Amino acid sequence: MKMYEKAPAKINLMLDVLHKRPDGFHEVEMIMTMVDLADRLELSELKRDSIIISSQAGYIPLDEKNLAFQAARLIKDRYNVKTGVHIHLDKRIPVAAGLAGGSSDAAATLRGLNRLWRLDIPAQELQELGAELGSDVPFCVTGGTALATGRGERLTPITSPPQYWVILAKPPINVSTAEVYGRVRAASIENHPSSLKMREAIEANDFAGICANLGNVLEDVTLKLHPEVQQIKEAMVKLGADGVLMSGSGPTVFGLVQKESKVARIFNGLRGFCKEVYAVRSMG
Ligand code: ATP
Repeated sequence: MKMYEKAPAKINLMLDVLHKRPDGFHEVEMIMTMVDLADRLELSELKRDSIIISSQAGYIPLDEKNLAFQAARLIKDRYNVKTGVHIHLDKRIPVAAGLAGGSSDAAATLRGLNRLWRLDIPAQELQELGAELGSDVPFCVTGGTALATGRGERLTPITSPPQYWVILAKPPINVSTAEVYGRVRAASIENHPSSLKMREAIEANDFAGICANLGNVLEDVTLKLHPEVQQIKEAMVKLGADGVLMSGSGPTVFGLVQKESKVARIFNGLRGFCKEVYAVRSMG
């Protein structure tokens, strides 16, 4: 028996850090939504009791460090499943990019194995399992568009924003999420983006309002470490994107574009100096 799951990338329309908690995590407020750039997972049932991960991508771990492996092991142990699974990951989301590729693979594994092993785990419980794997996993389990609070695991669904194009550009640098959060000084953040205003704009189907309220307090940290991220932001604005922001801890920058006629120009302009550029539809 085989199952297929799509694991879409996420972007943060806003990301705020409120304070550092005694458990070491940061208290955040984020509005997250999905874009149509996705990894594909093929899950094949194995008679023997093992978990095997394979991928065409040569640059991700295929052992217990892989988040899809960890998701499979968690669900297998928790529900006492005695058979195994081979998960093939067709990676299309750039790795360590701020697009939650690994988290989305973990979430897709939870959804896929729930079907493959006929476990009938309700969505809420799958999200709770996801929270054990990483802060972004619960959101990726259900997708859509949501306000995430706590360390990112407490979700309030929001209606879908209007459809738009998303241009993603990933400079060839690696950003460590842990390092970026480690450098954030919550008390000295001057401009906090407003989740309330962003939510209102989304609910009012107000594309201009969404663009006006984009904000990510991690930008200051990543931009200081990697000035090339700033260059990409400036280029996107110059080329005519309606709203531009870094996603998550970076380094991927996204541009929101309403008019299809502008997309090719922005895409081609960026390709001139950045190798990894994607033009996709919103999927919130
Ligand atoms: P986030 O936005 O949640 O911080 P990210 O997009 O920055 O995530 P990922 O692509 O999820 O980062 O990868 C982060 C690290 O996780 C990489 O160093 C990678 O080796 C490891 N990893 C583990 N499993 C996976 C997976 N299935 N796909 C991609 N990376 C994975």
